[in-house]
Amino acid sequence: MHLILLGAPGAGKGTQGSLLAERLGVPKIATGDILRLAVRAGTDLGLKARSYMDAGELVPDDVILGLVREALRADAARTGAIFDGFPRTVGQARALQEILADEGRALNAVLALEVPADAIVERMSGRRTDPATGEVYHLRHNPPPPAVADRVIQRPDDSVETVRHRLAVYDAMTAPLVEF
Ligand code: AMP
Repeated sequence: MHLILLGAPGAGKGTQGSLLAERLGVPKIATGDILRLAVRAGTDLGLKARSYMDAGELVPDDVILGLVREALRADAARTGAIFDGFPRTVGQARALQEILADEGRALNAVLALEVPADAIVERMSGRRTDPATGEVYHLRHNPPPPAVADRVIQRPDDSVETVRHRLAVYDAMTAPLVEF
């Protein structure tokens, strides 16, 4: 099962991707999560990606494609993957077609999650993450329990200004994938 979750930042790809991964028994490959781990670990990849991420810009395709190739080689991904936040450009989508074809794999479906921009800004400004578990909360809709409330953090790129820029990047670079 190879499934792409397409949608603007904050549309719910991460949440639905985790549920689907569990249900279907294949790993979720979330390029944003992989990059955030690299930033936290201070690896070369993290150093390279950080300035793009903090500015709400896309990390260059060659970097992303290297990550995805590696993630797909993992044992757990032999029978498939749920792609969350990838592909984000037509170039990445074409490359994914080649990667899958080279290995005799096929894409089963693309799910497009459509959410109005105002709802996205509201969701993302209230989004908080528990750095210890990666669990994602919302201050109003899904408040962190008292035991973790003190340690949840806001992603640096979830400020209102950066979210608006990320939505503009989505419209320009990623929305054309719906047609593609
Ligand atoms: P996300 O967690 O999916 O919202 O991704 C957070 C940030 O990581 C994005 O704003 C980009 O800077 C970077 N990123 C994640 N996935 C990709 C991708 N497929 N292509 C380019 N940049 C990405």
